[in-house]
Amino acid sequence: MLSDMHAVRDDADLRNAAEFPCPECGRRLHRIDHSPFEDFHLLYCDGCPRMAEVGHGDAGYAEIRHAHPGAEHAKLMSVVAERLRPCDCGGRFRADAPRRCPFCATTVVTRDAAGVDVTPAWSDDASVDDTEAVTAALTRRTDLWSD
Ligand SMILES: [Zn+2]
Ligand SMILES: [Zn+2]
Repeated sequence: MLSDMHAVRDDADLRNAAEFPCPECGRRLHRIDHSPFEDFHLLYCDGCPRMAEVGHGDAGYAEIRHAHPGAEHAKLMSVVAERLRPCDCGGRFRADAPRRCPFCATTVVTRDAAGVDVTPAWSDDASVDDTEAVTAALTRRTDLWSD
């Protein structure tokens, strides 16, 4: 088990994991490079902190990959972004949208945002469950596509 924990920490180091306070509301946030080993992509709304989670096994995603054989990741993500149903706020989900604070919606990562995930940081006054609940409430996983 110890060696497993080391592996997780090393991976977090490689992925530039870091905690920082939101400059607007002061809540602790966590940023990390999205792991290429995850089986989903996250696209972020360009108007609010919501995200769309597109699983590699999703039928709509499979269709897009099939229609664009050999396409680069960024190209695939732009096609996915065009096909996704708009966010409830009226914004669009994009791979490279600025990342926002989940609590106050201030933009916290604007440069090279593609591939960066921002979530609430675990802290003494918030359980892991609370942290995951905040993220889950902002994440669309079903009814993703516009047609
Ligand atoms: Zn904030
Ligand atoms: Zn939105």
